[in-house]
Amino acid sequence: DQGIGSWPARRARGTPDRVAVVHEDREWTYRQLHDRVLRLAHALRRLGVRRGHRVAYLGPNHPAFLETFFAAGALGAVFVPLNARLAPPEAVHVLTDSGSTVLVHAPEQADLVDAVRDEVRDLCVVALAGPAPGGFGYDDLLGGGPPEPLDEAVLLDDPCLIMYTSGTTGRPKGAVLTHGNITWNTVNVLIDMDLASDEVTLVVAPLFHAAGLNMACLPALIKGGTAILVPRFDPDEALRTIERRRVTHVFGVPTMFRAMAASPRWVDADLSSLRLVHCGGAPVPRALIRAYLERGLSFGQGYGMTETSPGALCLSREMGTAKAGSAGVPHFFTDVRVVRPDRTEAEPGEKGEIVVSGPNVMRGYWRRPEETALVLTPDGWFRSGDVATSDPDGYVTVVDRVKDVIISGGENVYPAEVENLLHEHPDIAGCGVIGVPDPEWGEVGRAVVVPRPGTSPSEAQVLGFLRGKLAGYKIPRSVVFAAELPHSAAGKLLKELVRARYGADR
Ligand code: AMP
Ligand code: MG
Repeated sequence: DQGIGSWPARRARGTPDRVAVVHEDREWTYRQLHDRVLRLAHALRRLGVRRGHRVAYLGPNHPAFLETFFAAGALGAVFVPLNARLAPPEAVHVLTDSGSTVLVHAPEQADLVDAVRDEVRDLCVVALAGPAPGGFGYDDLLGGGPPEPLDEAVLLDDPCLIMYTSGTTGRPKGAVLTHGNITWNTVNVLIDMDLASDEVTLVVAPLFHAAGLNMACLPALIKGGTAILVPRFDPDEALRTIERRRVTHVFGVPTMFRAMAASPRWVDADLSSLRLVHCGGAPVPRALIRAYLERGLSFGQGYGMTETSPGALCLSREMGTAKAGSAGVPHFFTDVRVVRPDRTEAEPGEKGEIVVSGPNVMRGYWRRPEETALVLTPDGWFRSGDVATSDPDGYVTVVDRVKDVIISGGENVYPAEVENLLHEHPDIAGCGVIGVPDPEWGEVGRAVVVPRPGTSPSEAQVLGFLRGKLAGYKIPRSVVFAAELPHSAAGKLLKELVRARYGADR
């Protein structure tokens, strides 16, 4: 059995009494984690889950997320984490598109689940808070006698996880990651970020993103370290936890590290236990790197994306100062090139697109061969849509994006998704959504809207129209009204011009 579902069992043999997971002052050892995963796997089987079936999870960071992930993996089923902040129509889309048959959810998402469960066919709902009418309670499922071992043999090429990521073409699509993809990403992280076997990892990024699960949590767990799960990030609380729990390793997005450095506790907090600070998922400003270096902390950087499980580039602790600002060199078992439009390699200093190949690159988007073919070349290179330069030592610096995406606090917002909805508004004749710089979130969205002749919708009306249809973080912060928008001769919206005209701070 090569599957990730076997990791808790293997760790329970090697380090049974070490603490695997911490959540709100409760602790689970590897032995307990293994026992719970096995019970849950049997319970999922009783609910009809078989090899290849999809099992969804909706909720903030919690041990049940990991238990469901490992239990689904142990059965050869495919785990589908949902962003806990989705609006009801978005959750319906992910559940239906993935064809999930079981949904495990946290109490915080009970209203969301109530709003969607009738719209998804044959969905078996399991609530952490206990059984609701027509559903199951998580703890009830875990009851019963000591569980027998499972007899599934899962292979590295079997799909393990479908992570939904929106696209420049509109609706979110699922990146299918195999057990092998995630295993190789874990190995890359262990090698390049130099993780020890007794790491105490603060998991501040959401587990439903590759950053939280694959960069922070799984590398700690494979080595027998401790993962402290943070359900809602709060900078003061994070600093307090680092002190109290002697945290050694954090992986987060720039918005989080910026908020920690701006906290009143920053100056006096005892951060001497912190050995590995890694930041990624969005452009990392140099001022942020300086703040951490001046505080005596090493500050590594990572670049990647969901489709590459996600690690592609890594800036190690050693090189963190000398190459500050660069996203680093390719992970050990991964190849990264900066290429020209004709796919020849760019010279040092010359801009090109980042392309990635290696055992961590996804096999494709779930049931979307055409969209897969747009990003994955036949010889296995994934086209990132990010623009970079490399220096003579091979260090890559991300400088721009060619894909139309806004990254706000580490969450990706695809303008196409927002624009598609705005076009449904009766008073909107045209629109373009752009990112504008923001000191806290990196970027925030702005909608440039052309009203239909004779109408004059207000900013509040436009934004109100999006509420309940899109996750809150995708809703633009501001609306600018314009008489017309620049289009090419072929009728394509010229985003560059929209950005140049309406993207200035105001
Ligand atoms: P996601 O699929 O949500 O992980 O988003 C991936 C995208 O985030 C990449 O294609 C980049 O545009 C951006 N990104 C991730 N890490 C970095 C980084 N270190 N520097 C700049 N952009 C980044
Ligand atoms: Mg991201």
